[in-house]
Amino acid sequence: MIIAFIGLGNMGGGMAANLIKAGHEVRAFDLSAEATDRAQGNGCEIVPTAGEAVAGVDAVVSMLPNGKIVERVYSADVIGIAPTSSLLLDCSTIDVATARKVGEAATAGGYDMVDAPVSGGIGAAHSGTLTFMVGGTDAAFVKAEPILAAMGKAVIHAGASGAGQAAKICNNMLLGASMIATCETFKLAERLGLDLQTFYDIASKASGQNWSMTSYCPVPGVGPQSPADNEYQGGFAAALMLKDLRLAMEAAWNTNARVPMGEQAEEIYAALVASDGGTLDFSAVFKTL
Ligand code: NAD
Repeated sequence: MIIAFIGLGNMGGGMAANLIKAGHEVRAFDLSAEATDRAQGNGCEIVPTAGEAVAGVDAVVSMLPNGKIVERVYSADVIGIAPTSSLLLDCSTIDVATARKVGEAATAGGYDMVDAPVSGGIGAAHSGTLTFMVGGTDAAFVKAEPILAAMGKAVIHAGASGAGQAAKICNNMLLGASMIATCETFKLAERLGLDLQTFYDIASKASGQNWSMTSYCPVPGVGPQSPADNEYQGGFAAALMLKDLRLAMEAAWNTNARVPMGEQAEEIYAALVASDGGTLDFSAVFKTL
């Protein structure tokens, strides 16, 4: 297949390289010369505009920073320019309303489109082990699955257009809240004089068990290897968690959903990002309590 790839940053760079490894021809565009140089080194053909990237392709994949940029790129450079036979796949994390709006514009233009945000960070993007949550029609999902499978370990149909983004922000709101709950629980255990490894051994076999503790423990030296053991470097940056929590709060506002734990999580991550710039891993909440 000939695939246009727009947005070759931390995530997109690795994803485009995996499409090449799977035997696709990738025409790539990014505003950053550093990103395009890296992509060229991985075998992508670099073109000077997004419009040139999408001309004559079988599919368009995008991995961009936010909803405004996704809307702008699709309306200016993709819809009406890519062949209507091409499948459009936006893998960026954006708000549900914009995902639906861009999906509707694509359908009106005669395209099949899916929103396909990912779970898994830069490491998973490079190793091709992302999980994709896909929103779109059954027909669009069937076409999208083999393309996404070349970049991930799981491809799940979440529902209609926008459902991929909805699943992504709901999952990350749960992750943010459960990480904070895990951090404060270990702080309390410490104040109560418990040995933290012993408490980990108990809680990981009791009803408090959760992914933030047993797969990504925020306490240095406790549980499996995690960013906490590397001074909270690497992993999933707190600023990206804050971005996803803000998308979740926007969605809650738009749907009248009560999410008090999500609101608290957003406040706590906003404070963490304000204090350290948001580059540390999201488990660094542990240090601030
Ligand atoms: P990034 O900033 O590293 O990459 C974004 C790229 O888009 C940059 O190279 C930028 O130059 C390019 N870009 C911006 N505007 C453009 C335009 N108009 N045309 C072409 N290129 C343009 O970001 P990232 O970490 O790769 O994240 C991309 C998306 O993936 C975001 O929506 C993010 O929320 C999501 N995500 C990131 C992670 C992660 O761990 N980094 C994990 C899951 C999801």
